[in-house]
Amino acid sequence: MYMTMGDRPKGYRRAGSAGHRDGGGPFRWLTYLGFSGAVAAAAVPAWYGLSGRPWLAYSTGLLLTGLVAVISALVIGGWWITVRRYRKIEIFRLLIAGAMLFWGAGQLASGFDAFDGAVGYPSTGDLIAFMSVPIGLLAIGWLPRNSVPTMPGLRVLLDSLAVGAALTILLWRVVLTRSMVDFDAAHLLTGLFVLADCTLFAAILLTAVRDLRSRVWPAALGILGHLIADLCVIVSAQGGGSRQDPWLAATLWCLVWPLIALGIIWFRSSPVGGEEALDRREGSATQVATLVTFACLLGAGLGGGPFSGADARGSVLLTVLLVPLLYLREAMNTHLRLRLITGLRAQAFRDSLTGLSNRRALTTRIDELGRDGIPRVVLTLDLDGFKQVNDLLGHHAGDALLIAVADALLANCPPPAMIARVGGDEFAVLCPGDLDRGSELGERLRTAVAQALALLAPGVGISASVGVGRLVRPDVVEAGRLMGTGTTSAAVVRPGAAAPLPGAEHRDQLTGLVESAAALRAAKESGRDAVQVYDGQVARARERRLHLEHRLRLAITNRTIITFGQPIVDLSTGHLTGFESLARWTDDELGHVPPDEFIAVAEQTGLVVALGEHLLSETLAAATKAGVFAAGLTLSVNASPIQLRIPGYVEQIRDQLDQHRISPDQLIVEITEAILVAEGDPAVSTLAAINALGIGLAIDDFGTGYSALGYLRRLPVQVLKIDKSLTSSLLSEPKTLAIVDGVAQMAHRMGIRVVMEGIEEELEAECCRSVGADRGQGYLFGRPTPWAKAAELVSRSPTIVRG
Ligand code: C2E
Ligand code: CA
Ligand code: CA
Repeated sequence: MYMTMGDRPKGYRRAGSAGHRDGGGPFRWLTYLGFSGAVAAAAVPAWYGLSGRPWLAYSTGLLLTGLVAVISALVIGGWWITVRRYRKIEIFRLLIAGAMLFWGAGQLASGFDAFDGAVGYPSTGDLIAFMSVPIGLLAIGWLPRNSVPTMPGLRVLLDSLAVGAALTILLWRVVLTRSMVDFDAAHLLTGLFVLADCTLFAAILLTAVRDLRSRVWPAALGILGHLIADLCVIVSAQGGGSRQDPWLAATLWCLVWPLIALGIIWFRSSPVGGEEALDRREGSATQVATLVTFACLLGAGLGGGPFSGADARGSVLLTVLLVPLLYLREAMNTHLRLRLITGLRAQAFRDSLTGLSNRRALTTRIDELGRDGIPRVVLTLDLDGFKQVNDLLGHHAGDALLIAVADALLANCPPPAMIARVGGDEFAVLCPGDLDRGSELGERLRTAVAQALALLAPGVGISASVGVGRLVRPDVVEAGRLMGTGTTSAAVVRPGAAAPLPGAEHRDQLTGLVESAAALRAAKESGRDAVQVYDGQVARARERRLHLEHRLRLAITNRTIITFGQPIVDLSTGHLTGFESLARWTDDELGHVPPDEFIAVAEQTGLVVALGEHLLSETLAAATKAGVFAAGLTLSVNASPIQLRIPGYVEQIRDQLDQHRISPDQLIVEITEAILVAEGDPAVSTLAAINALGIGLAIDDFGTGYSALGYLRRLPVQVLKIDKSLTSSLLSEPKTLAIVDGVAQMAHRMGIRVVMEGIEEELEAECCRSVGADRGQGYLFGRPTPWAKAAELVSRSPTIVRG
């Protein structure tokens, strides 16, 4: 809605510096010369006037003022054309020059007539000169204005005209009509010149309010002089259709035109402060305009003589002009205000990137839907591997993908479906229908989106997963949960009447979308690029997940999750070199929960930070007790990517090591390679800090993720753990053998140790030795065991091998 700094008309700022440049050197001398000439010209009518020859003062005055105005106009025009060649320059400066030219030409024409005899009023020359009035007013419309970009010129013009008209009324009542016998065409025409003067003067004053440093004083002074000259003319005019301007008017005109020309060339906008300051000052300018307008009208009401004759007619005429002006101004501002509000409201409910509805719009719609009995479904669509696109191809490519997805959704979901972007790469569609219809639509959307993605990012392997669920109104969900069913069959209760229940979705405002979200999660877990309907299985999975999260919270608080140690051995000697710490949880209600499952839930809910903290202290204490560190062995701990991105992780490790008096080089932190793709990831600096403490870093599960290897250059890695999927196919797949062989050689040349995971048989171990792997881990050497049992292994371990 608002112009940003970058949107401001080109040359807007530079105008000032260029003004400086133009003001130097030859230009300065030309200015001095011009002003000297103008003073000389001004002296002529003054001389004639003061020496009692008013007719000569008038006729030479006409010619000289015309000449000065024309020359001034030509100077501005020449300057404008020159400057335009190297920068953009506002048109209002040229328009003023145009107005000046007409005025000067009119004066010259009248001057030539005057030498032939008497001049009627208004003469042809006066009509030519009058052309300057509309052109001058037009110029105001192009004065720079920075804030709300809607019709800025018209608003400046209306502000200026309102002030100008009110000022004219004031002058009319207080100054002019005192000397006026009658109100005739001559007065009317000159009155219009006065109106133009006043309006220009107002425009300059308002410009100064908007932008104090814009160097408007020469122009202001010039217009003020011009106004006084016009007033002199009007005061001296006695009606009767003839004209003889007083010498003072001619003298003033000679002086003010060069001054105005200087003002036009000198003017520069140099707004101080940010966008907000600009907006504020423009608001002030409009307020000042209103204030001055009413002050003038008040002055006119109080200050004039009796309201009759010429005064009355002129005042009525001007007031008739002012009223529609004020109305127009008000209408304009109301229109703007309404547009702004409508725009803001639309913005609040729209996603700015795709133009779709946003999360808020969707929740609002769901809230508004009555219980009309119409079945509705919600589809939640999430891109698989979108983060990868952002990381690999950049955010611009990511944005383009999102827009393409939005287009694909729009093309496939006719109204009354509502499409919203509810998260980074997550979209939702709300439409009438049952689950079957939803599943059909989901399949269509998945295909359409896949096609769109394949076009834009071929080969990146990005797809879409869709979850389909019935729309569950929040109040109904609360009731359902209270009943412990998690379904919609339960009675409706007041929203908010339910006690908070454990569960990630409870924090989610989109309570109406739980089914869909749960189905989406199931789709993701079952291998992505799929459509999943919220069925009994998903419902049970969701129930279990909610239950699991609840129990996990308790387990972390009660510190009932423990760790086991799995031995890691030297492949050539078979000697124990250390242990990997693996989390184990047997819950009273859930039974044994595999770490893969609860770590995933912990990561999704943020519990992983507290869990990680607990596991680290638990395992360090247990391993110390088992004599692992005393025997010079190492301990490897797994770190979740989320932990690495939370500040304080490094300090936490350091404190724990201090507390247990463990040497940092006996600890190894394992991280999966999946997190290491993004440049500038906060995890990267955490890893560097960990390494700086002397703690080892291991890349876990190598061969399951990107295997981009580039990170090995960037990160201080000491250990590469080859995933058990590679280990188990070493025997059967020669290609895998070649890959592992190559990776091991490369790692060794970089000083990185290679650990083979999941070795279950002696043959596999043999194979691992043959590719030059250093260490091995797997059931062959020992399953993960309680630390008490691990202690036995430690005590039996023959030598102390570091690393
Ligand atoms: P991981 O880090 O790759 O851990 C190795 C997994 O392979 C362990 O599974 C281990 O029991 C299993 N394993 C070891 N040798 C063999 C073998 O010879 N054959 C087979 N089939 N499996 C073997 P576990 O303990 O179920 O852990 C699974 C994953 O859970 C771990 O994979 C790790 O990513 C995560 N995890 C476990 N404990 C923690 C923890 O304390 N913190 C974090 N952040 N993640 C953990
Ligand atoms: Ca591991
Ligand atoms: Ca692993």
